[in-house]
Amino acid sequence: MHIDLASAPGSEERPNEDWVSAAIPASGGGVLVALDGVTPPSGEDGCAHGVPWFAARLGGRLTELSGSRRDMPLDRILAESVRATADAHRDTCDLSHVRTPQATVVVVRWDEAYVEHLVLSDSVLLLQAPEGGVTAVLDDRLDRVPREVLRSVAATDALRNAEGGFFTAAADPAVASRAVTGRTPRGQVRAVAALTDGASRWTDTFREGDWAECLAVLRKEGAEGLIGRVRAIESDPSRPPAGYKRHDDASAVYAEL
Ligand SMILES: [Zn+2]
Repeated sequence: MHIDLASAPGSEERPNEDWVSAAIPASGGGVLVALDGVTPPSGEDGCAHGVPWFAARLGGRLTELSGSRRDMPLDRILAESVRATADAHRDTCDLSHVRTPQATVVVVRWDEAYVEHLVLSDSVLLLQAPEGGVTAVLDDRLDRVPREVLRSVAATDALRNAEGGFFTAAADPAVASRAVTGRTPRGQVRAVAALTDGASRWTDTFREGDWAECLAVLRKEGAEGLIGRVRAIESDPSRPPAGYKRHDDASAVYAEL
């Protein structure tokens, strides 16, 4: 087994709000977790702790439970992790705030029999078959929101964790039922990767290559190599800025099983 991971902030002035981890439990198999903390548009989120604190709490709990509670399905692990994270600041912060700290989530867990996955919001999970074919597992609810709506803070807030909108892990454990989940027989998976949108933009925004080519970059050049390629494209003055931010926090974790 080989695991490689990297995370880079979008700018030196702001803390990195992504969070990635990998665990190889003594019982065998493995776990990958990737979170992308959502930056509150105005800085106001009702929380005294901030997004990096939230992402570290949630990611830590997800990693610990995924590794120690094989009996628990990943959606229950997400619900329990959201609840435990909310409990850690329920007494000091306004968790009913629409922009309470929140994050996208990818969890992958494997053992001898299956590779299980969970995807919530716009981070990307890639599964590679032994023959080389790559399947991208996406929660595309945010992509279905028109771009002009996302330019309005108020309109975006109205869709945040609301029916017909898009869902992120925030303070309500019930969001776990919205996650895209599944499992694949272990023999059908050679490699897996989780990417936050700052890294997946190499494929889904810049169109430098398809998902199979993206995974090939991860295999040959590592997670740092992929993020370096993204940064080089973003810094090219001849290309228009991608979306709202020229550079976004970017994380990738790659595992050959
Ligand atoms: Zn807080």
